[in-house]
Amino acid sequence: MQVSSLTIDRVRQGFDKREFSAVDLATEALRFAEAENGKTNAYLRFSPERALAAAKAVDEKRARGGNAGLLAGVPVAVKDVILTKGLTTTCGSRLLEHYIPPYDATAVVRLEQAGAVLIGKTNCDEFAMGSSNENSAFGPVRNPVAPDRVPGGSSGGSAAAVAQGTAVGALGSDTGGSIRQPASFCGVVGVTPTYGRVSRYGLTAFASSLDHIGSFARTVRDAALVLQVIAGRDPADATSADAPVPDYTVALNEDVAGLKLGLPREYLKSLTSETGGLIARGVAVLEKLGCEVREISLPATDYAVATYYIIATAEASSNLARYDGVRYTTRAEHADTLAEMYRSTRGEGFGAECKRRIMLGTYVLSHGYYDAYYLKAQKVRALIARDFAQAFETVDAIVAPVSPFPAFRLGEKIDDPLAMYLSDIYTITGDLAGIPCMSVPCGRTAEGLPVGMQILAKHFDESTMFRLAGAFEKAGGAD
Ligand code: GLN
Repeated sequence: MQVSSLTIDRVRQGFDKREFSAVDLATEALRFAEAENGKTNAYLRFSPERALAAAKAVDEKRARGGNAGLLAGVPVAVKDVILTKGLTTTCGSRLLEHYIPPYDATAVVRLEQAGAVLIGKTNCDEFAMGSSNENSAFGPVRNPVAPDRVPGGSSGGSAAAVAQGTAVGALGSDTGGSIRQPASFCGVVGVTPTYGRVSRYGLTAFASSLDHIGSFARTVRDAALVLQVIAGRDPADATSADAPVPDYTVALNEDVAGLKLGLPREYLKSLTSETGGLIARGVAVLEKLGCEVREISLPATDYAVATYYIIATAEASSNLARYDGVRYTTRAEHADTLAEMYRSTRGEGFGAECKRRIMLGTYVLSHGYYDAYYLKAQKVRALIARDFAQAFETVDAIVAPVSPFPAFRLGEKIDDPLAMYLSDIYTITGDLAGIPCMSVPCGRTAEGLPVGMQILAKHFDESTMFRLAGAFEKAGGAD
């Protein structure tokens, strides 16, 4: 079997027709992923024992005639900021190089309960801070489509694993674009659900009011199925929502004619002409399918990047305070006093981007600056959310670019944090408003670089998003 061409449905068919067993598939997926990893560095670690035990359980259940779950035998990868019991979880940081979590994240528990086979943990920017995966302490990830380019970040490893075909689905996390932007750069589907749709229990906190777990896959259906399994209330996360989770696959077969789509004027300003051209073609496909497209305005968009980098760094400075050399982390070797131990541990352990954010976040929260920066940013966040709420009074969904440009070259932006931050100019707003949003492949540039189209919907209305993305994919995307 060829792992790279599998979908969730194909895996089930393969079992039903006895083409392969779950153990055969897990063995081949692990072999293939390990063989390919030299090209991308997408995985930080493989989990053969866990994968084979899960696959064996699937085979046994099926042999007894039981239902082995929605994701039975499906090889998946999980971003290394999501905790896995007994399996090192580094968050892409030297500080956590040897950290072995004592429990699984709820999303991982649910994946495995549905029969998924975890083959490994994927590389990412340190503590999910970055847009290129170059901030990982364990080396950058290369884009499988163009190896001299970044895969995007911070969930670059998960996007690359799925694009490379070593995993059928993957989990990532998104705080300001970290699922949609790498999905767009690598040419796969990436879904950031409504804030609270998926439990954050076991997701290492970066900016808690913005953090989401979401899914990657090569098809809209597979990304929807992975979300289906991990979504829903979890008593272990007080912010997880008690909202019913509909069957997302129903939406995939619904007609999109008559849906009203908004195209935000502010998102089309700073696009490269090639990206803009592809998005325009994508929008034309949706119009041909019967959608009514109208221009809308989201006026607070101009403040999104500044707002995000105040709120996200403020929350990060607090969340990252726990890595002190006493708990979780590797401890600095030489220190005479407790204060020195803290200082050395953090000074040696954190990379430059984390330090930059801890300093910025501490500053905006400090006495005298709190009102001017943090409080102001919270007010602007409310305006951004209000822009979306007003837009959704007249449209069913919003269509936009994911990133102003396609995948850039390794090293191209690493010395210019502000240029890097602009990668997320179109993705940050969705996180600040807490609405569901996704990236769906929308053609390639002349150089062959993938471009994603973003679809945003109302709170808890992932179904409309999948309905549009499914119809778009079925129509052949922008190609
Ligand atoms: N690139 C953004 C940042 O650096 C978003 C990261 C994320 O979504 N985790 O913060």
